[in-house]
Amino acid sequence: MRASRFFISTQKEAPSDAEIVSHQLMMRAGMIKRLGSGIYTYMPTGLRVIRKVEAIIRDEMNKAGGIELLMPLVQPAELWQETGRWDKMGPELMRVKDRHGREYAIQPTSEEVITDVVRTEIKSYRQLPLNLYHIQTKFRDERRPRFGLMRGREFTMKDAYSFDRDLAGMQASYKVMFDAYTAIFTRFGLKFRAVAADNGAIGGTGSHEFHVIASTGEDALVYCPTSDFAANMEAAEAMPLAASRPAPGQELTKTSTPGTTKCEQVAQLLGIELSKTVKTIALVVEKEVDGKKTTENWMLLLRGDHEMNEVKVGKVPGLANHRFATEAEILLCYGTLPGYLGPIGTKQPVTVVADRSVANMADFVCGANDKDFHYIGANWGRDVAEPLVADLRNVVEGDASPDGKGVLAIERGIEVGHVFQLGTAYSESMKATFLDENGKPAPLQMGCYGIGVTRILGAAIEQNYDDKGIVWPTAIAPFEVVLCPMGMDRSEMVKTEVEKLYADLQAAGVDVIVDDRGLRPGAMFADWELIGVPHRVVIGERGLKEGNLEYQGRRDAAATAVPVAGMVEFIK
Ligand code: ATP
Ligand code: MG
Ligand code: MG
Ligand code: MG
Repeated sequence: MRASRFFISTQKEAPSDAEIVSHQLMMRAGMIKRLGSGIYTYMPTGLRVIRKVEAIIRDEMNKAGGIELLMPLVQPAELWQETGRWDKMGPELMRVKDRHGREYAIQPTSEEVITDVVRTEIKSYRQLPLNLYHIQTKFRDERRPRFGLMRGREFTMKDAYSFDRDLAGMQASYKVMFDAYTAIFTRFGLKFRAVAADNGAIGGTGSHEFHVIASTGEDALVYCPTSDFAANMEAAEAMPLAASRPAPGQELTKTSTPGTTKCEQVAQLLGIELSKTVKTIALVVEKEVDGKKTTENWMLLLRGDHEMNEVKVGKVPGLANHRFATEAEILLCYGTLPGYLGPIGTKQPVTVVADRSVANMADFVCGANDKDFHYIGANWGRDVAEPLVADLRNVVEGDASPDGKGVLAIERGIEVGHVFQLGTAYSESMKATFLDENGKPAPLQMGCYGIGVTRILGAAIEQNYDDKGIVWPTAIAPFEVVLCPMGMDRSEMVKTEVEKLYADLQAAGVDVIVDDRGLRPGAMFADWELIGVPHRVVIGERGLKEGNLEYQGRRDAAATAVPVAGMVEFIK
């Protein structure tokens, strides 16, 4: 590729809505262009990365016995009604009507369609096992699209579906996909971790998520450094863990240490850990004022490094008996916290009646903030932003591992893949059966396996960047090598050498681009550092006279002189 004939449009500034580094850098590098909320054009440089990601996935899927097909984007509502997901999926499912008033889903995933394909095509156990996959556009009307390709509404997913005659077969197929995913993420050159996951709404019996490790990840991963234990936070919370915190309904008779901050005292009483991260705690505080018992609802924002932020949410309806479920954790305490409004130190019982999570924590807090309730000294973005809310949890570092083989550590990850053992949930509701050895119809045992193709770009960047820009792992870089000629239009020597090296690298199968745009060196280098090309070769007269080219890896602090004749070997 020649840069003068390619499309490069780098920017100095990222748009203000780009909150995280991968989104900012992808915008600045001209890899994506926003068209609407959660909807992006994949610009030429970005598309090259997507194609490389797809090629690796396709290669490993094929090696693992997957067979590619392509299912439609627009899928009749009737199929989705058969499994009940037309109603269950709620507003995330994008629905459209045709000119006759018939309803369709724009696929967020394709279990229904693949099950329909298979129920009419598979007759006998002899046709099993079978693994069908596609790489296709998905649409999910996400509540909060954000972070560029990370949580888009339109995005690309590889989804695969396995069909087996029995449970053991399905579990074997699942293992094959688990191993294929391990191979795929290893080839991307990314640090990742597979964790046990809840099955969630999709139903079924077992599941794992694959996460790219990044401190900015939305998900907390719990693992044991001295054993194989690894689970996402939701799954870990659902497991029996060594109880270090009060169970729902448990009486607390602990006394906090006077003299510590209010935050610390409340944390002590509730048995939670304070960190620099904000913990949000909803409290129903019972007070006796002039002999009269009153209750007040309070939201307390705790942060380890300073005393802060109490907000009275007394008028939020229903807080006291709200039954919370899923996602961000909230400790809802009912009881007396005497002196909560002053120093805590008196020995008084606190009963935890609910110790669980809220799905709508952000809405809840936002809502409170909106309606004439205020935080004292708190800043929404800094103190209560959603990633922080997601940090609120029951399992903390240092808890005993459920396998008894050590203590737990926590790191953050970005979910890039998900494998599920579905069992017969879909085949039963859609009557997808085959004839077994005895000629009897039996429901197909299914598994499904997703990879977020476009999300991988964002995840890779969150893990690999510096102050100059993106640092792509070579396997998925838009170009592997950029040739930067110094004064190509002035020097015949440079021109000849550039053309020769360009041809040699291409012949050696290296994905190379020549920057023949005639930019000054500074601007030229800045572009490629921002775009994140892993290898750069500078071709200048000075070096050539000594028989050398100047090589610099994207992470190298300085350039190295490499003999002209050895450059192709050096790069390969
Ligand atoms: P999340 O928890 O991030 O919402 P999910 O669990 O809903 O993801 P799955 O149904 O497991 O997603 O889909 C398989 C994969 O598709 C995910 O592991 C993720 O990599 C990708 N994916 C899901 N939603 C999006 C999205 N809105 N934008 C980009 N990729 C996505
Ligand atoms: Mg989702
Ligand atoms: Mg998920
Ligand atoms: Mg998932």
